[in-house]
Amino acid sequence: MDCIFCKIVNGEIPSNKIYEDEDIIAFNDLYPQAPIHFLVIPKKHIESCNFLDRENSEVVAKIFVKIAELAKEMGFDESGYRIINNCNDHGGQTVKHLHFHVLAGRSLNWPPG
Ligand code: 5GP
Ligand code: ZN
Repeated sequence: MDCIFCKIVNGEIPSNKIYEDEDIIAFNDLYPQAPIHFLVIPKKHIESCNFLDRENSEVVAKIFVKIAELAKEMGFDESGYRIINNCNDHGGQTVKHLHFHVLAGRSLNWPPG
């Protein structure tokens, strides 16, 4: 399958990994939008939030727990951060493999554009 995040999972494309286990991987975004900007993805290909269901969604809880752990370890839990998922065209999703952005290290604007 021609998916850049699957290629990152299987090592075909290099990435700056910050965490990996049997189910998920976290790596720095190639074009960071904040001092800290990484992505957390399921290793299994899920196209977007639209494709989550009762069978495959346990990994989303794992991703959120790992984000909370990384926030503490990396020291931005108290200052705060934003978790973002973009879905399809209006959401601004450019890579069709489910991923959660984590941005931290500066104050972020709201509402988004
Ligand atoms: P989306 O727009 O789909 O929510 O986010 C895709 C993100 O993946 C973008 O922030 C983009 O910078 C990042 N990205 C795209 N290609 C690569 C890549 O090859 N390596 C890494 N580390 N990030 C990528
Ligand atoms: Zn994929």
